[in-house]
Amino acid sequence: MNCLTCRVEGGSGSAPFLLSRFTRSTLHPVFTLLVFLLSFTVVNNAFSDEPDRVAPTRVAWQMDDSYQGPHQDTFQKLKWDVPILMRQTMINVAVKLGMHFEEGWQYPLIIDFVDLTPPGMENALAYVQLGTGKDGIAQHLSINISAYDRDPFNFEKVFAHELVHAMINDAVGAEAAIRLPVWLHEGLAVFGADQGEQMAKSYVYQTSGWSEQKLLLGLENHRGGISYAEDYWAIKYINEKHGSNSLHNFVREIISRKGDIPGALDYTCSETWDSFQKHAREFSKEEIKKIGPAKWGQGEKPY
Ligand SMILES: [Zn+2]
Repeated sequence: MNCLTCRVEGGSGSAPFLLSRFTRSTLHPVFTLLVFLLSFTVVNNAFSDEPDRVAPTRVAWQMDDSYQGPHQDTFQKLKWDVPILMRQTMINVAVKLGMHFEEGWQYPLIIDFVDLTPPGMENALAYVQLGTGKDGIAQHLSINISAYDRDPFNFEKVFAHELVHAMINDAVGAEAAIRLPVWLHEGLAVFGADQGEQMAKSYVYQTSGWSEQKLLLGLENHRGGISYAEDYWAIKYINEKHGSNSLHNFVREIISRKGDIPGALDYTCSETWDSFQKHAREFSKEEIKKIGPAKWGQGEKPY
């Protein structure tokens, strides 16, 4: 950030001006030297920051508000919520996952509103599709209006969940995003959107007495929504047992290593993929015990 400021403002203007202004004054020699050194650092930084490097062009997200379906009231409400939520949600997610927040997107992101979800899409509330259109790679974040109308869900969290998918896809690049395993996509999305505790409780209650058998199927054996608890616990395991700095570094390494999970785990948590799976599973069992069996009539919606 500093480098950018220096390059933009100080490249040929304010940094040399600082230098000449201070050396003209009658200051103690040591102080003058200190100021000179500081100024030199500013000037030096201003010129050492690869001036020829051109930042890739990033684009603003867009909304497709052409929805003509029957749920116009809900559409009008959510249509106004999205722009208000967008930037702050991205910042919250970036902070939580240790991602570098940048304005705009590498790939165009279009938010749209639908009444139906394509078969196989998660939970039918909202979903992200990464694909190639006539103008190149783009992402669509679709919000299911009829699902919301039927059974209103926590829109802010569901929207944050989908934004995590879109942000990870955008940061890691389309090719690597497609190769990233589902458990990692979903674990980060549930953790980043702060949905994990409610969701885990809901699934543990639903599988009362059989939670270990029904929820802990192995990170590589994803079985739809019910597997989100295990995905979440794997990310929570890194956060709690290795610390939030390790989780942030892990996410950044995943991005810079284009999805190399064993490499990122070894570098940030000193764990092999096998030991990580074993420890995450043990951690998940502890989480199930902590939640405990559902008492009669006790239930919770996952979203
Ligand atoms: Zn998801």
